Amino acid sequence: MRYNVVMKRKIVAVVGGGAGGMLCAQVLAAAEKYRVVLIERGARPGRKLSATGNGQGNVTNLSMGAEHYFSDDRAKVACILTAFSPEDLIAFFGGLGGLFESDGQGRVYPSGRQASAVTDLLRFALARAGAEVLLERTVTAISRRKGGYELAFSEGGTLFADAVVLATGGKAAPNFGTDGTGYALARSLGHTVTPLYPALVQLKTDTHFIRGLKGVRANCRAIAYEGEKEVAHARGDVIFTDYGVSGNAVFLLSSYLTDAQSPRLVFDFLPDRTEEELAAFLERKAAFCPRESLLGAVLSNALGRAVLRRAETGGGCTPAVAAKLVKNFELRVTGTLGFDAAQVTRGGVPLAETDDGLQSRKAENVWLCGEILNADGECGGYNLQWAFASAMCAARDILRRL
Ligand SMILES: Cc1cc2nc3c(=O)[nH]c(=O)nc-3n(C[C@H](O)[C@H](O)[C@H](O)COP(=O)(O)OP(=O)(O)OC[C@H]3O[C@@H](n4cnc5c(N)ncnc54)[C@H](O)[C@@H]3O)c2cc1C
Repeated sequence: MRYNVVMKRKIVAVVGGGAGGMLCAQVLAAAEKYRVVLIERGARPGRKLSATGNGQGNVTNLSMGAEHYFSDDRAKVACILTAFSPEDLIAFFGGLGGLFESDGQGRVYPSGRQASAVTDLLRFALARAGAEVLLERTVTAISRRKGGYELAFSEGGTLFADAVVLATGGKAAPNFGTDGTGYALARSLGHTVTPLYPALVQLKTDTHFIRGLKGVRANCRAIAYEGEKEVAHARGDVIFTDYGVSGNAVFLLSSYLTDAQSPRLVFDFLPDRTEEELAAFLERKAAFCPRESLLGAVLSNALGRAVLRRAETGGGCTPAVAAKLVKNFELRVTGTLGFDAAQVTRGGVPLAETDDGLQSRKAENVWLCGEILNADGECGGYNLQWAFASAMCAARDILRRL
């Protein structure tokens, strides 16, 4: 007698329908090996992904490398980025129907410059692959059960899964559903979590010398110091605000000041001139120009006035003092705008608590990917690359081992 044995398909629950969770669920579902359930607390998957890059979706960066990341295990970050490089990412999304291009600085965007189009590529691919997407379900507990895990929802009900992927993101930008509850889930499974800080975030500074500059933008060289030590520099936009500074140069430097003692920023508003050149130029100009116009046509009017005001309080506005301040405009950093405004979380579940395939070393058949892990990148596409590459790493490992 012959029996037809129907194998029950294993259930993989992916918790968090963000960048990493969507990609991981899509790859798993497309393999047609498991029943894949993607659980997202929001009304739509990928809400944060749709808002990235000022709505344009800076999905990766062609200048890729672990040196652009902060983590407890950069070597593992490097391996994961090599196994799914920016070119692989572009090919993957190309296979889903997207075209991508890079700007002059290596940042890669969808050709239509619309981040929501990237979310749509994943959304449609998830549907084609037959993944089940549960929306408006928040996972509040993951309990070990015989042969797997039981996931409990705050809205009521439970789901049994043979394997779980934690892709809940971090604590930054909680308006997109990422309020840090994923860390509690990870802890309940035996993981630790490093101290957490907001990164890629606007910085609060002393505001005395920047009063009246709200909204003024300066393309300059900015240097971050911890005490007397230079920790990073960046060239780009600095935007003055009523609390301190914003802009892409500030975002980049904020990553280096998360837990710094005595942090400060120094701006060079004319990075292509030396201080000596500028002082000599201002000396000549002072011979025929009233003092209040000394920096006219050198800096924007508002910025020029702020520099001159500061020079006066520093004991007299000579051309040499003005030149020094234009090249070294210092602000003490007093804090950040916090997780509400941050783009990414510094810290998370240590990579050391996962194996090479990002399977948990604390709980069998649990994988982690994305921002919940202790890896975050600089501004410029590095964080989405990490979310996608780590999700691909977990998905491939699950396909090999489950
Ligand atoms: C405004 C903004 C702009 C950005 N721009 C860029 C950019 O241009 N380039 C770049 O590289 N990076 C950018 N980033 C960072 C990048 O978006 C994140 O690092 C990345 O999305 C993290 O991916 P993830 O999959 O780990 O988590 P997320 O994309 O944050 O997704 C996590 C998902 O899990 C869900 N979730 C959380 N807890 C639960 C739970 N208990 N139950 C169910 N669901 C849950 C959340 O609702 C969320 O949808 C930006 C971030 C912000 C806030």
